[in-house]
Amino acid sequence: RPVLALDAITKTYNKGRPNEVRVLMDAALTLAPGQVVALVAPSGAGKSTLLHIAGLLDTPDSGTVLLDGQDMSRESDTARTVARRQKIGFVYQFHHLLPEFTALENVALPQLANGVTRAAANERAVDLLDRVGLGKRHDHRPAALSGGEQQRVAFCRALANAPALLLADEPTGNLDPATSDQVFDVLLGLVRDTGLSALIATHNLALAERMDRVLHMDGGRVT
Ligand code: ADP
Ligand code: ADP
Repeated sequence: RPVLALDAITKTYNKGRPNEVRVLMDAALTLAPGQVVALVAPSGAGKSTLLHIAGLLDTPDSGTVLLDGQDMSRESDTARTVARRQKIGFVYQFHHLLPEFTALENVALPQLANGVTRAAANERAVDLLDRVGLGKRHDHRPAALSGGEQQRVAFCRALANAPALLLADEPTGNLDPATSDQVFDVLLGLVRDTGLSALIATHNLALAERMDRVLHMDGGRVT
């Protein structure tokens, strides 16, 4: 059964007002377990909107969002929040790490929020940071890390609660091209090792072609 299945999704901003924007018309996509899919579209096509709907951060006007077979469109806000915390990891263009905490603490914190003990959370954080080559950076705060290192910590944090689904919006878009390729390799390696499904929005076609499938967006649909 698919990890994520979006069907007949529509979304309009500012409905009925002069500045109305119809972003998604009849968008659909399916993500099989372990599948890594690229979402490539020009700016303004609706990638972030689609990712926010898939990530249960926003609701569509109509259509269904199945997460692990569960119809999230029918669930309460509380149930959606719980499902989001347990099943979905997010990565954005900017790292959004907490500046006052170390790399290790940033990866441990979401686990503590999910009821994991401090010892177990730290152990998993150490393991994840080691796997992305940050074994010597556990005690660094974000400001003391390079852009590529900050993004690698953000990947670890996204995977901290062992989600079934990773949603990434231009995950290396803030980095220079060489660093971007290198850090993207790290992300793909981590995703493949963990066997999770990922939907990754990117402008970079070369990176997109290294994934299992490339989806485009056109006229509010996924093609
Ligand atoms: P992308 O991520 O592909 O750049 P977005 O999903 O961010 O596309 O935006 C798609 C369109 O919807 C754009 O025209 C954008 O201006 C508009 N839009 C996005 N969010 C909002 C919002 N909260 N209110 C009004 N319009 C929005
Ligand atoms: P941008 O693509 O402009 O950098 P951000 O990465 O700041 O956008 O965030 C995209 C959207 O996701 C914003 O609307 C933000 O409020 C929301 N967001 C980011 N992180 C979280 C989170 N952990 N929980 C809920 N919403 C989030």
